[in-house]
Amino acid sequence: MKYKHLFGPVPSRRLGISLGVDLVPHKVCSLNCVYCEVGKTTNLTINREEYVPLQDILKELKHYLDQDPELDYITFSGAGEPLLHNGIGQVITFIKSNYPKYKLAILTNSTLLYDQNVRKEILGIDLLLPSLDAVSKKVFKKLNRPNPKLDNDEIIDGLIEFSKDFSGTIWLEVFIVPGLNDTKEELELLKNTITKIAPDQVQLNTLDRPGTESWIEPVSKNKMEEIAAFFKPLPVEIIAKFQSRNKVRSYQKNVEQQIIETIKRRPCTDIDLSEMLGIHINEINKYLSELLHEGTITSHQQERGTFFRAK
Ligand code: SF4
Repeated sequence: MKYKHLFGPVPSRRLGISLGVDLVPHKVCSLNCVYCEVGKTTNLTINREEYVPLQDILKELKHYLDQDPELDYITFSGAGEPLLHNGIGQVITFIKSNYPKYKLAILTNSTLLYDQNVRKEILGIDLLLPSLDAVSKKVFKKLNRPNPKLDNDEIIDGLIEFSKDFSGTIWLEVFIVPGLNDTKEELELLKNTITKIAPDQVQLNTLDRPGTESWIEPVSKNKMEEIAAFFKPLPVEIIAKFQSRNKVRSYQKNVEQQIIETIKRRPCTDIDLSEMLGIHINEINKYLSELLHEGTITSHQQERGTFFRAK
């Protein structure tokens, strides 16, 4: 069976062997973050819909999980915001009822958590990885470029409410963009707010590979350490760079080779590679990050996006 909505298992630095479930097409999202690694949002919406047929997702999951694969997590993530799919609750119930041994995770930008129905639908998962990059409306607007109907205060209240009701684990990610959310004022607001949310872990992240906007720089290691120290006594960690591929069980040498061979012939964007090789964009991105870190490939910005070429 050729899967359209499942991808991987991807080598994930936080989740080990993680089977990705993509519930929305590229690129449906409620935000258009300046650092987004999967390209500009083309449908900036907060409307929950059946963006891809629920029955198709369930069919693919049944086919895949019936083979009893070894997985650390099944993760709702992908090239947009998964909570925008109005069937996510049914997908969770389907997996938990039929394949209870698998742990479920959701990577979300948190924006839909203001809706109590959404919060209720996802209570049965094991791990929530929400993002919160800004508290002030000004920085939220500049950094996350939200759908205009979103209100950051309501989103934060939703996160606090969810955290009270949820019995699973929450790892909250803060993506630091120099000049936007690394000021003393914003960091103080973040620290106070995160204290109220009380996640199990706060994970600080910074640019790994070129984002949507070419002017964004990664934060230096020293600055990240300073920010982490400032957030203490919250349980904070800096998300380490991608671990060595030898340690990642699902790193596939042949996928890496296919990518290198393709960009040797001509430079490509991640979207080009995904279309040409028939591999999900998130999976492509994991390999590109690793190849950039080890210096096998380079990237450069052009009008149509970030192009990658082999050295
Ligand atoms: S980083 Fe996530 S939340 Fe932000 S635009 Fe990209 S997909 Fe959406």
